[in-house]
Amino acid sequence: MTAGDEQRMRFVFALRQRGVMEMRVLEAMEKIDRGAFVKGIFADRAYEDMPLPIACGQTISQPSVVGLMTQALAVEPRHKVLEVGTGSGYQAAVLSQLARRVYTVDRHRRLVKEAQEVFARLGLANITALATDGTRGFPEQAPFDRIMVTAAAEDPPGPLLSELKPGGIMVVPVGQSDTVQSLVKVTRTEGGFDYEELRQVRFVPLVEGMGQEN
Ligand code: SAH
Repeated sequence: MTAGDEQRMRFVFALRQRGVMEMRVLEAMEKIDRGAFVKGIFADRAYEDMPLPIACGQTISQPSVVGLMTQALAVEPRHKVLEVGTGSGYQAAVLSQLARRVYTVDRHRRLVKEAQEVFARLGLANITALATDGTRGFPEQAPFDRIMVTAAAEDPPGPLLSELKPGGIMVVPVGQSDTVQSLVKVTRTEGGFDYEELRQVRFVPLVEGMGQEN
């Protein structure tokens, strides 16, 4: 067994311990190397279960949270998925293993560009990353089977709700502050929306408008 194999085994073991049980999700996360999405001084911590800083003052989420959110989204192979909050691109890459097509958007152009480079390097051809404000939805490709928001909103954004197909699911961290947020699973029903609170989480805020480039 090489050091890499052992690292990967420990990574997946930690995910299972924290409640990521679905085989398809575990396989996707075993396959997508988180190390490819973490740069610089934090690169050697890529396989630990912690969020890490990325460019533009943002963070790559904790792997177990990525796993639990992906599991909650119940993605099927024929699905078209929207992610709001590309960040490093890691979550989109995991989703790309489970869905037919993934659209991911971020308000920071630099993050989108860097994520596109990693997707190309890893040969992930079913992801489209774009710089746009996700609070306004993504009408060009709507409606979606699944929507994942990886930044915290005060309320699930209306344009995103309206872009969910009937029976569609959105997972979104909701909270009025930086410290107390709950992960909410929204299901579009015949007559409206069902809301289910899953767990406490902590995400960077969803911010309206495009990011200032530096
Ligand atoms: N999913 C990412 C982590 C996301 S961090 C990963 O796997 O690495 C949250 C991201 O949401 C940040 O990159 C931030 O720029 C982005 N974001 C915040 N508000 C946004 C908005 N209105 N539209 C699009 N992206 C937004």
